[in-house]
Amino acid sequence: METKTITKSQIREAVEQTYAECKGIQGGKNADYIPYLANIDPELFGISLTLPDGTTYAVGDTEYKFGIESVSKVLTAILVLKQYGAEAVLKQIGADATGLPFNSIFAILLENDHPSTPLVNAGAITACSMVQPQGDSWGKWEAIINNFRDLCATESEVIDELYRSESDTNFNNRSIAWLLKNYGRIYDDVPMSLDLYTRQCSVGITARQLGVCAATIANGGKNPVTGVQVFAPELAPKITTLISSVGFYQNTGDWLYTSGIPAKSGVGGGVLGVLPGVFGIAAFAPPLDPAGNSVRAQAAVKSVMSKLGLGVFDGVAVNVSDE
Ligand code: GLU
Repeated sequence: METKTITKSQIREAVEQTYAECKGIQGGKNADYIPYLANIDPELFGISLTLPDGTTYAVGDTEYKFGIESVSKVLTAILVLKQYGAEAVLKQIGADATGLPFNSIFAILLENDHPSTPLVNAGAITACSMVQPQGDSWGKWEAIINNFRDLCATESEVIDELYRSESDTNFNNRSIAWLLKNYGRIYDDVPMSLDLYTRQCSVGITARQLGVCAATIANGGKNPVTGVQVFAPELAPKITTLISSVGFYQNTGDWLYTSGIPAKSGVGGGVLGVLPGVFGIAAFAPPLDPAGNSVRAQAAVKSVMSKLGLGVFDGVAVNVSDE
């Protein structure tokens, strides 16, 4: 297989130039169905890229804590993959793209034997119901938030105002949770499972933390900053497959086709991208396109990939050199 060498300074320049070029991109609109998100400064913008040796290139608002929202689904999917294994997750949740919006009830009716994938609302609520220890809300939350810390290398916590805002308005997710219960796909108490899901979506996270989490996945489960093997290497391709197939909901095919990197978005404006063996990248900017994906963060991740001439399906081995 052909090997392509890129240097660290090329990567740094790609991130810095991308920031300068994408900063002025307008368009899109903050999520407004969760009141807290509607009021976040739409000009915020940051990019953070972490290599398997822990080197991080971060520009812009990479220390700002924004709502992790749907990107949390990736982290908790990893937790249930760790706790149950890849086979059981396939059996109890599924791994199929729905091709429908993230919060689709129709998707559940169409696939009444599965919540589809842990990366849409339905499957993510099911994943929260599976988190061990069963029946223990506090113990489950500890497992979720400790897993966030292990993947991101630093602690994070719930933004209380966001949590209240989501809890007061999550009527659609309540319908999803009870409909799943009807199909026998909630494996613990229903309100508890929904509350854990809402809580994990309300965690404040920085682009730097998400970049480290992405790099942990790209690095076969070993956190490049702490050196800890957070999950087994054989689970890394499973989680990257889930991200590839549904990370941008109904726009996932277009995203992968045009960007060349599996990535997961959240309505808080975050995008987490995984280039296996090479790097993890995160970008953040609040205004979203109609499918709920950050306009500037998408442009930024695409731009870094194209400046470096990389793509997950290129069939070349990538070597990052120090020079
Ligand atoms: N908390 C949001 C919801 O459940 C997350 C959605 C998203 O980021 O796509 O509606």
